[in-house]
Amino acid sequence: APGLPNPHQRQHPAPGALLAVQGAGLGVPLVGGGWAEYANLDHAASAPCLTAVAEHVARVLPYSASVHRGAGFASQVCTTLYEGARRDVARFVGARDGDLTVFTRNTTDAVNLLARCLPAADAAGGVVVFDVEHHANLLPWRARAGYRSVAARSTLAESLAALEAELTAAPTALLAVTGASNVTGETPPLARLARLAHRAGARIFVDAAQLAPHRHLDMAADDVDYLAFSGHKLYAPFGAGVLVGRADWLDAAPPYLAGGGAVREVSTDAVDWATGAARHEAGTPNLAGATAIAAACRTLAALPPGAWERHESDLRTRLLGGLAGLDGVVIHRIWSDPEATPNSAGGPSTDGGRRTRDGAGAWQDAVGVVTFSLPGHDPARVSAYLSAEHGIGVRAGRFCAHPLLARLGAPGGALRASIGVGTTDDHVDRLIAAVARYLRVGP
Ligand code: PLP
Repeated sequence: APGLPNPHQRQHPAPGALLAVQGAGLGVPLVGGGWAEYANLDHAASAPCLTAVAEHVARVLPYSASVHRGAGFASQVCTTLYEGARRDVARFVGARDGDLTVFTRNTTDAVNLLARCLPAADAAGGVVVFDVEHHANLLPWRARAGYRSVAARSTLAESLAALEAELTAAPTALLAVTGASNVTGETPPLARLARLAHRAGARIFVDAAQLAPHRHLDMAADDVDYLAFSGHKLYAPFGAGVLVGRADWLDAAPPYLAGGGAVREVSTDAVDWATGAARHEAGTPNLAGATAIAAACRTLAALPPGAWERHESDLRTRLLGGLAGLDGVVIHRIWSDPEATPNSAGGPSTDGGRRTRDGAGAWQDAVGVVTFSLPGHDPARVSAYLSAEHGIGVRAGRFCAHPLLARLGAPGGALRASIGVGTTDDHVDRLIAAVARYLRVGP
């Protein structure tokens, strides 16, 4: 928008160039790609909008009429687009026939919705989580009776064993896990976690806020019961997210919001609530948000097989290698198991395709999110320096994961660099050089 202050002290193109198309990185055009000087390494917070998404929303907006509520032509178009968006999202996550796709405001909203739909703890059992979760996948569960948290151990193998013990120690309705850590990028093995949960008679919910923007998902193959993500991390605008999963709990629970659209019939003293996604989508639906997410899903699903994962894996390796080469940088990980472990068969992943193979045939168990500290230096000051002096956007803080940051030995916060489809080798190299300079000469 004309007149907005330049967010950095470096020179950027004029405001009109915000709509410029740029094919750097993976070659997927992004709105705002004209900010050639800006190294955006903060995708884990919110990702820039894909040009395909912006163009699709611009085609949808002229219809602007009520979804599900009008007989007119424009209203019918909007209803068709909205329901089509639901199908596109379901396809993108590999949902099963019969799963519901409910549009929400974001991941936080989706987790809260599922928490409200869980059968009572005394009937169904409690909720088990690891203590490494984002607050969005922690606090909604904590409020419930039967909540149990498992302390992550220093290796993934030990953590899975501890989790299995906890799942069977008391009746459990749900295991709620992150698909990819928003702090370290590490990706627990979802298919294995699903097996552990199901063996204990529980279901599994995956917080895919960080996984969906980095990997192809397959709920059916991994046997994941519920999954949520946010549009604004998936190269769509703010204000919409999704919860996808099994219908029975959602249909049996009271509506998330009471109001129009969530009902079949209302009399003066009774309500017959709708079932299906509509039950939890009271109020006029967010057509722009839903169709934007669907456009992002279609664009990402159409990427050539392996290209997305390879692009990111290469950049993550470059970033980790560069930071590890600097004295005075500590890189944080939850698990000490090797980052890249050769696949014994040398063949395709046995883990739902989430693991990615680098050029040397090794599998990488993390997405492009890296958190690091410069001991003795305030992360907020370092991030301000990176922005002001080098035009590099990272995040400083505790990333809405206070227990995890404390466990990682960074209770005061750290720095996070996160990669997206527009990230280039140059962005990564600039960050490494800038951190090296900070360590050498200070701000
Ligand atoms: N879960 C994870 C792993 C996240 O990284 C985030 C956001 O950072 C959330 C949940 C919450 O997402 P939102 O703020 O879009 O609700």
